[in-house]
Amino acid sequence: MRVRPFDRRDFLRGGGAALALGALSACASGPARLGAAGDAADYDPLPPLAPIRARADRIIAITVCTRPFRAQGPRIESERLGRKTVVHHYGHGGSGWSLSWGSARLAVREALATKVGDIAVIGCGAIGLTSALAAQRAGLKVTIYARERPPEVRSMRATGVWSPDSRYCTAANATPEAIARWETMARDSLQSWQWLLGLPGTPVEWRDGYALSDLPFGGRGGEAPGEPEYANLLPLIRALWPRAQDIPRGAHPFPVPYVRRYTQMVFNISAYARLLIDDFERAGGRIETREFATPGELEKLPEKTIINATGYGARALFGDESVIPVRGQIARLVPQPEVDYGLSYGDLNVVPRRDGIVVQTGAPGDFGNADATPDRRESEAAVERLARLMAALRRA
Ligand SMILES: Cc1cc2nc3c(=O)[nH]c(=O)nc-3n(C[C@H](O)[C@H](O)[C@H](O)COP(=O)(O)OP(=O)(O)OC[C@H]3O[C@@H](n4cnc5c(N)ncnc54)[C@H](O)[C@@H]3O)c2cc1C
Repeated sequence: MRVRPFDRRDFLRGGGAALALGALSACASGPARLGAAGDAADYDPLPPLAPIRARADRIIAITVCTRPFRAQGPRIESERLGRKTVVHHYGHGGSGWSLSWGSARLAVREALATKVGDIAVIGCGAIGLTSALAAQRAGLKVTIYARERPPEVRSMRATGVWSPDSRYCTAANATPEAIARWETMARDSLQSWQWLLGLPGTPVEWRDGYALSDLPFGGRGGEAPGEPEYANLLPLIRALWPRAQDIPRGAHPFPVPYVRRYTQMVFNISAYARLLIDDFERAGGRIETREFATPGELEKLPEKTIINATGYGARALFGDESVIPVRGQIARLVPQPEVDYGLSYGDLNVVPRRDGIVVQTGAPGDFGNADATPDRRESEAAVERLARLMAALRRA
């Protein structure tokens, strides 16, 4: 079977690694997203690529997460709840890690407007932790209350790449205000991430990856079956990181004619989550395990201002049915430090994380699917496809 060129929408389902790949026209997807590859002769030669030991028995974890998607984009606004102010901060779809810093600063601005010195943050995922840290940096005393904390939170099951417009909002909801808010968050976040490079444990790093295709890059794709058309926001900031490069035939070892190199930011989520918690606690923050069944229970907290960073949990806690689950599964293979590149081939997405090589595919019916049960066959099939690619790489 010939695998069609890299498809943006499919790749977004895979967590959005494609977002690092290139500029695109407003309605184009897939290979067009790789479009800004520049002069074909202008590419950096490939280093030797260590083969990935892609075998089902090397799968060390299979996890499923539900992206907390809202058609209108994340909810960041204050609401009065009895004598409390709740700053809602949830619904970041497939871009929660990526946008977390910029988004946290918007939520903290709301909290600061209430003129209190102590606040509560409900939730200890990507959004809760960064909200708590941003609040501390703004001079507030913070307590996190959460049912789960890392490694149990859903955020820990993400792919771990810079994917700032992945399932952020639908195209129909991309109003000028929504776009401007996204751009503010994305630019702010991208800058914040750069201060996390080069730290012990490598919480964040830039990596190269290779998009493989049997057909020329270019053309249009669509969303994954059953998914709405998402806003395509990346072109607004695409110039902020390295452009993609076309690698000519004969200059790469892959068993496909078309190869495009991208450069992407990778989040090594285990080390990064630990860093966030350490920083929070070192600055005097406290995490309390607590589950809230109703908004009324929040009123019993001592803090008058509460940031609600419950992610998909906001749907049950606040009865907010605008939060739609979008299922996604990843498998992690035993880490191979020598593997320093990512791959994409059709809907197969591989990310070279330090805490395991992530192998991800999308599956039909992910949209609206809250089932968090891992499907081992899905991951094994993805690893088998990767194994076939690696066999060809070894022969090259
Ligand atoms: C397969 C997959 C891959 C992804 N890949 C990426 C990626 O590469 N890059 C990226 O930027 N994003 C990615 N995402 C999206 C990202 O993971 C989410 O946007 C992000 O995790 C949302 O974080 P959160 O803190 O809002 O939610 P969560 O991590 O779910 O945290 C919610 C917190 O609230 C607590 N909570 C919930 N309800 C209650 C309650 N009633 N009482 C008390 N506590 C409660 C929970 O215990 C938890 O602590 C991916 C998502 C999936 C599914």
